[in-house]
Amino acid sequence: MADAVADTLDSGRHLLVQAGTGTGKSLGYLAPALIRLTQRPADRILIATATLALQSQLANNDIPAALDAVEQVSGKRPTFAILKGRTNYACLLRVRDQAGDDQAALIPASDLVAAIKAAPAATPESALGAEVLALREWAEREDNVGGLADRDDAPSHTERGWQQVSIPVRECLGVQRCPHGSSCFVERSRDVARAADLVVTNHALLAINAMHGGTALPEHSAAIIDEAHELVSRVTGAASAELSPQTVERVGRRALTFLEDDLALELLESADALRAALDASPLQRVEDPDSAFVAACSVVRNVTRQVVSALAGGDDKQEPEKRQAAAAVKEVFDIAERMAALGARDVVWVAERERSGREARVAPLSVSDLMRRSVFAERTTVLTSATLKLGGDFDRVATSVGLRT
Ligand code: SF4
Repeated sequence: MADAVADTLDSGRHLLVQAGTGTGKSLGYLAPALIRLTQRPADRILIATATLALQSQLANNDIPAALDAVEQVSGKRPTFAILKGRTNYACLLRVRDQAGDDQAALIPASDLVAAIKAAPAATPESALGAEVLALREWAEREDNVGGLADRDDAPSHTERGWQQVSIPVRECLGVQRCPHGSSCFVERSRDVARAADLVVTNHALLAINAMHGGTALPEHSAAIIDEAHELVSRVTGAASAELSPQTVERVGRRALTFLEDDLALELLESADALRAALDASPLQRVEDPDSAFVAACSVVRNVTRQVVSALAGGDDKQEPEKRQAAAAVKEVFDIAERMAALGARDVVWVAERERSGREARVAPLSVSDLMRRSVFAERTTVLTSATLKLGGDFDRVATSVGLRT
């Protein structure tokens, strides 16, 4: 395997390689990749995994071991960095300003102290309050020492606690507009990755990078995709979206205070139009451009476009809430526009959740075109896994990921 990977990196072609669990698969690609980096210091190689578990195994065990061996042989030691999704790092806007999507769910610092004092016994409120305080103090310490505030290094916490100090992609103000942009941990993690020879990331970030014209990851000369049997589902997941009346109402409530009454009302009414259309639609794929569902998506698209333009302008650093509301509305606009278009490369359908009711979903019909255009056409790629051969050969997986038409 190591020879095949080395040949592939030299030839600029692509490689599908299967290696059973426990056979040293990761060393089979790390050794040739690291040797190549010692010979070509201007290159950068990306490794993408499906799971955080494999990322940690690479970061804590396999890469340090491979680096020791490469250093012994070559006298050189390439650098490496782990690059994760935004929600894996603390967000200083949340930590310091408690700004966020659902304000009722975020706890101001003064209330945290009050909650702990008022409930000294181990109640859920005091436990969450203490947890969030500890996370905020840890994030500030990380900032003081130039750390990354990576969730893996955080004090023990629950999912709910972490939500108080991290931010989803759609909520991020962007480094230029954020009052804490100059110390942003996510931006720091990207700087560290841009300075590293080997970068370990995940399939979803690889997909986002492909969809957004290469802005999510640092430039790299080759990519090694481990756990490649998961690639199609992870890329499909990253390229899919959902839209529900509740989502439109939620972003509408956030934008209300910044809007004229008429436009605010129109936005909330578009949620009702979407709800009525979803309730009248069968639970199946939508293919009719004249359907009530497509008409409702067009209504949501048109009103959210107006809202985005009404929320533009002003001093973003002074009004982070307004900027976040605009970003949330823009996301709804993008999804409604995509659904209303019923594009040839998408499939749109009406689904139902047991607790929240009906919603619309959109997913790419196939990710092979995206992968072919934005990953395989750009650089040498190695795909590996313990289970890549389906039916005895690589044909099916090569077609599904876009290596073969
Ligand atoms: S730029 Fe985004 S992630 Fe960074 S601190 Fe600001 S809001 Fe948080």
